[in-house]
Amino acid sequence: MITKPKGCYDITGVDSHLYRQIEDTVHSYANVYNYKYIRTPLFENAELFKRGVGESSDIVQKETYDFTDRSGRVMTLRPEGTAGVVRNFIEDKLYGGAINPVKQYYLGTMYRYERPGNGRNREFTQFGVEALGSDDPLIDAEVISMSVNILKELGLDVTVRINNLGSVQCRENYKQALLQYLKPHMSSLCEDCQKRAEINPLRILDCKVDGQTEFLKGAPNILNYQSEESNERFHKVLEYLDYLDVNYEIDHNLVRGLDYYDYMVYELVLDDSLALGGGGRYNHLVNELDGPTTPCVGFACGVERIINLLKERYTENNQVDVYVMAINEEEKMKANIILQDLRLSGIVAETNYQERGLKAQFKDADRHGAKQLIILNSEDLAKGLVNIKDNLTKEEHKVPEDEIIDYIIGVI
Ligand code: AMP
Repeated sequence: MITKPKGCYDITGVDSHLYRQIEDTVHSYANVYNYKYIRTPLFENAELFKRGVGESSDIVQKETYDFTDRSGRVMTLRPEGTAGVVRNFIEDKLYGGAINPVKQYYLGTMYRYERPGNGRNREFTQFGVEALGSDDPLIDAEVISMSVNILKELGLDVTVRINNLGSVQCRENYKQALLQYLKPHMSSLCEDCQKRAEINPLRILDCKVDGQTEFLKGAPNILNYQSEESNERFHKVLEYLDYLDVNYEIDHNLVRGLDYYDYMVYELVLDDSLALGGGGRYNHLVNELDGPTTPCVGFACGVERIINLLKERYTENNQVDVYVMAINEEEKMKANIILQDLRLSGIVAETNYQERGLKAQFKDADRHGAKQLIILNSEDLAKGLVNIKDNLTKEEHKVPEDEIIDYIIGVI
């Protein structure tokens, strides 16, 4: 038997129902916040993620799915959505247009070679938004509150954990202070963190191993290394969030796994769940990828992690509105037409596709949770009538054939 690849899942049953619900919510929120849908390729030149996501990130260091195509080009299955959106922004020269910022959203599968389990898949789905071209804290607040509101609509009242990484210069000053603090204890850090100390020491702060130690909890606070300008813009974002009643906690050790962030970064959590999503400002990425300097902000949320939480509260409702019963060929022919009329009127209709007797069809209707039963028989049909039975109250009515749809709409 050929099985699915490790860390990948078939999305079926309740999961696929919730997947669709999330997808619909994302599309409708993106519409009212005026973000436009963008689909970028599932794979890109490997270089894009090396330079975009960052050579020092865990993702590029050990999690990308790379392959060489038949012409010898090195490609990578996308591990996240931002780099592709930014590549498109530069390639299609969307900068300098009349509309600024350019507001895009995406929804699609991502690939990371992670150890599967506990909310980590190798193929997973993210939705996210990117606003490219504005440095206004108002749009930071918009992006954060939009992600919070989407999750709220889905029934998840999340908390925002937020931090300020500041400008390149603020970060550099802080890096030096952090390294100074870490220096005498370098050998007690985990192997990964010893490497991080050389390439991106900030990542040590949110290391799953070292990040939890008292020693690191006592590390210098990045918020004390911000310039006045950086501090002001961070507090402006918080002020806007206050007015929007967004629930946030400042976490000065929050760094996030992608290298491109500066200034505000945030994550969305529910109680002590794994992060459901997160994002932040990235004012240098467009430039890094050979475009003009463009301030940007965005977020990404993981659909599977959301589904896992929603599933705990989900009660299945797979009721069909109407079940049409027919035995002989004349009745089946009529059922054929009635079913189409019902469905084209937006009514969920089901029938019997096997040579079953009436008793078996009643049982089948119950299995489908049918609310109304249309029980066809030749005698009624000869008079232009059908027999409709309420499957709950068991009341029956003879209804003229051309009034079926109106009748059903009135009772379901
Ligand atoms: P990131 O792109 O790393 O900032 O992640 C954003 C969100 O995507 C996370 O908060 C998760 O909800 C989701 N996510 C990231 N990696 C995975 C994974 N391996 N499996 C499932 N969801 C993930």
